[in-house]
Amino acid sequence: MKVAVFNTKSYDRTFLTAANVGGKHDLVFFEPHLTLETSVLAAGFPAVCAFVNDCLDAKTLGAIAEKGVRLLALRSAGFNHVDLAAAKDLGLTILRVPAYSPYAVAEHAVAMMLSLNRKIHRAYNRVREGNFALDGLLGFDLHGKTVGIVGTGRIGAITAQILHGFGCRLLGYDFLQNVDCLALGMEYVALPELFAASDIVSLHCPLMPETYHLIGAEAIEQMKPGMMLINTSRGQLIDTKAVTKALKSGKIGYLGLDVYEQETDLFFEDLSNHVIQDDVFQRLLTFPNVLITGHQAFFTEEALKNIAETTIGNITDFEQGRPCANQIDLDQVKR
Ligand code: NAD
Repeated sequence: MKVAVFNTKSYDRTFLTAANVGGKHDLVFFEPHLTLETSVLAAGFPAVCAFVNDCLDAKTLGAIAEKGVRLLALRSAGFNHVDLAAAKDLGLTILRVPAYSPYAVAEHAVAMMLSLNRKIHRAYNRVREGNFALDGLLGFDLHGKTVGIVGTGRIGAITAQILHGFGCRLLGYDFLQNVDCLALGMEYVALPELFAASDIVSLHCPLMPETYHLIGAEAIEQMKPGMMLINTSRGQLIDTKAVTKALKSGKIGYLGLDVYEQETDLFFEDLSNHVIQDDVFQRLLTFPNVLITGHQAFFTEEALKNIAETTIGNITDFEQGRPCANQIDLDQVKR
């Protein structure tokens, strides 16, 4: 099948080409993001392959559908960036990669906890400058601390498993109780209780209208003073301005972000020669107790291999008219 693969970096091309065994599909790689303006590139392709920071709003979907696209193959688990109602009206099929490596994201979340706690990011710079003083690097034992996990699905459960190994007390909040988490001794509690009791809160729920700005002024008010907040899920779960205020007052003692509300204009690109215009983001970078990575939690060899293989498998299923377990059910979409 002819596939227009948008928003590709060298690693995408490497892993997708390797997964496309025998050149089964005709993959044409484009560097630009998919937007209304770049949608002309999709002309003549029955399938488009896109990533989390492509623009998949009603106008762009309309433009690609008009050019003959019938399949949208997402190289991501999340699909909060897709206008599903528009896709349904246009008769598009949307396939995704629901799970590629929950370990990659969970391990990154824990790496952020450890780095922030033991101030590895600061110690690295100090030692390189010949500064071996320990003042300001004091950490705490993770053992015995309470960690609240919001969203105990695949990634939340692996995070819980790793933290169980550190001897942490585990609290969880989810609509569904995960048996693996219960087996680790996780206690499911209401959100205010989780916020009040947790030394560390790690977000692993999806972005949906109900979870938009889940962490805002009201939630922060309920939190333990000096707590650590980790977000490897989606930027808009956090009201960044409210969190910045809480960092200034000390209510939040540590912040680890792999995702950011306005990341579309920043992440995945080398902007080191540009002046970053986002003042909210720039303010965050001034705090010594804030660690930000550019949406790299998923970025392991295993995850990229799984994403590529599942994407190719999804496209093959569609081409051969087979039911695909990774299809987003647009019949459930409400307007
Ligand atoms: P999952 O579907 O396995 O788990 C999500 C869990 O959240 C489910 O148990 C669900 O019941 C729960 N949930 C839904 N609504 C909730 C709410 N309002 N409050 C609390 N819990 C709620 O998903 P997953 O594979 O564990 O992924 C979790 C999130 O991680 C994804 O939604 C995605 O946004 C993010 N993610 C980030 C990266 C990255 O590179 N940073 C990579 C992959 C996924």
